[in-house]
Amino acid sequence: MNKMKVYQDLMRIVQDGGRVKHDDMLSAYTFTKTGGEADVLVLPESYAEVQRIVRYTAAEGIPMTVLGNGSNVIVRDGGIRGVVINLTRLDAIHLDGHHIIAQSGAAIIDVSRFALKHGLTGMEFACGIPGSVGGALYMNAGAYGGETADVLDHAVAVDSSGQLLQLNHSDLRLGYRNSAISRNGYIALEGTFALTPRHMPEIKAEMDRLTRLRRMKQPLEFPSCGSVFKRPPGYFAGKLIQDCGLQGTRIGGVEVSRKHAGFMVNVDHGTATDYINLIRHVQKTVKAKFNVDLETEVKIIGESGEVQDR
Ligand code: FAD
Repeated sequence: MNKMKVYQDLMRIVQDGGRVKHDDMLSAYTFTKTGGEADVLVLPESYAEVQRIVRYTAAEGIPMTVLGNGSNVIVRDGGIRGVVINLTRLDAIHLDGHHIIAQSGAAIIDVSRFALKHGLTGMEFACGIPGSVGGALYMNAGAYGGETADVLDHAVAVDSSGQLLQLNHSDLRLGYRNSAISRNGYIALEGTFALTPRHMPEIKAEMDRLTRLRRMKQPLEFPSCGSVFKRPPGYFAGKLIQDCGLQGTRIGGVEVSRKHAGFMVNVDHGTATDYINLIRHVQKTVKAKFNVDLETEVKIIGESGEVQDR
């Protein structure tokens, strides 16, 4: 791939040079503050731009990677070849009766606050999830007994040929940390959430309660990617890790959180390689002690970098 040609082609496609970048460090776009360079990064501002980018990369055979808020990814230190499409500029949220329609780059936390402002209940669970609407649709984000599937009515997405799709709730097949978006490689563009009216102070009280719980239990003072592992059937990943005595274990600048064993925090300029090595170490230790396989919830993407595995 000729990086500079792709960069120039995309400048023509989005007609705003400021929204196309080359060799940008992805550590600036991820919650772990790790990740190498993207060959070319583009920030579309309309669905038509997304469609044009998808059609262009498909026609040219250029790999394309989607990034939302970067709160559930570890981008390897070698960065990402091809085009990274970052959707955070598609962030409009509006109201239609008791429905909230949010573009995929809107923060799900903002959707939750918007629902509060309009006296609509159902989005309280999302008030502390730092991802985008697209990321929530991709993996059916959830917390404290609520999940995206409970409130999502329908969505708009684009497939790998650039075709717009209208997906209703059953088309989306939202399961535990997956959906038709993740399974089919669609790009989510918009989600419509069906909510119900409720007295505003009650919604606020519930959001405050969940925020207090989160602050008490999660190491929000450090960069992280949230829970690193999925819940293995019949167990809790955090409890297994805790019972292996792994809290505080550090590789490079990344540590198993002392506050919440399911989190790994970047405490001292850690790299993606540190994260990946710590993940492997935890997986091996838990397997040896409990014979349980921990599967990552966080998506590990990109190329291994110059920073060598230790
Ligand atoms: P990204 O990290 O940008 O991407 C994650 C995956 O989604 C990637 O594979 C990406 O390609 C794909 N993706 C993103 N946007 C789109 C799109 N528009 N179309 C297609 N694919 C897309 N998660 C929970 O479920 N519950 C929690 O309580 C929770 N708490 C967290 C707390 C902290 C402190 C942190 C850092 C993370 C937490 N997470 C939690 C994880 C994370 O916020 C969610 O998984 C969120 O849904 C990820 O969204 P994102 O936009 O950041 O996705």
